[in-house]
Amino acid sequence: MSERETASRTHDEFCRAIETGDPFYLACPDGHGSVPPRRVCPECGAQSLTVEALPETGRVQAATVVHVATSAFADSAPYVTAIADFGPVSLTGVVAETDPEAVEHGTDVTLAIQRTDERKRPTLVFEPR
Ligand SMILES: [Zn+2]
Repeated sequence: MSERETASRTHDEFCRAIETGDPFYLACPDGHGSVPPRRVCPECGAQSLTVEALPETGRVQAATVVHVATSAFADSAPYVTAIADFGPVSLTGVVAETDPEAVEHGTDVTLAIQRTDERKRPTLVFEPR
């Protein structure tokens, strides 16, 4: 894969790759991970990014319950958002589980995409394993 192709990857391609079961991330030569759109590594500024397979399972680093949501998520509140590490990539998503007690630091999750009419952008969803 050429660097030009890597740099042109979009967030929508990232989401569609999750839906088709072939998720990826962008890696720099130093091993930092990021998700598109990126032209340089957000950690070190490296301009040589390659496409790598995203690990299937992530681990929750932090989770919080949202009681007052933005209008696009109003019907879902209260819900849990979390930051999970998938290998070198930290992602923020909504947890597909309304019981806040079920999600904590160290919970293993898999990644999915949810599309609704109310939300313009696809939502990253973490599914506890
Ligand atoms: Zn880097």
